[in-house]
Amino acid sequence: MNEELYECPKCGKKALYAEYPDEYEVWLKCRECDYFRGMSKAEWHKLKNSPNLEKKLLKNYLEETKEEKSGEKETGHVCRGCKKSFERKDMGPFGFFCKKCWYKFLIVVFVIMVVISYMVWMMFI
Ligand SMILES: [Zn+2]
Ligand SMILES: [Zn+2]
Repeated sequence: MNEELYECPKCGKKALYAEYPDEYEVWLKCRECDYFRGMSKAEWHKLKNSPNLEKKLLKNYLEETKEEKSGEKETGHVCRGCKKSFERKDMGPFGFFCKKCWYKFLIVVFVIMVVISYMVWMMFI
């Protein structure tokens, strides 16, 4: 069988080939690196007949790796207030709470201060 080779989105070499493990699936594998992508035969058929197959694969690959990277970053900072994960720039001072929780906290502190000062003021009248 004369295999068609495509440009690998990971290493950029013309070493990408399609493998057919069963009648429904297609595996795209690279001979030079560990790139792997599985898809349905229908999906592959559509992709193969499009004029910019390699570009589409590259775009998809970049999107996937971008998601992975941002996922790693997000797990680094979990807010102790709302339990959601944030990037460092969205965390408030000390890095324990997100900025939204800091604002809420400051508003609560401000309200308590107003109430206390009002009570103190009432006591001296
Ligand atoms: Zn490769
Ligand atoms: Zn929060």
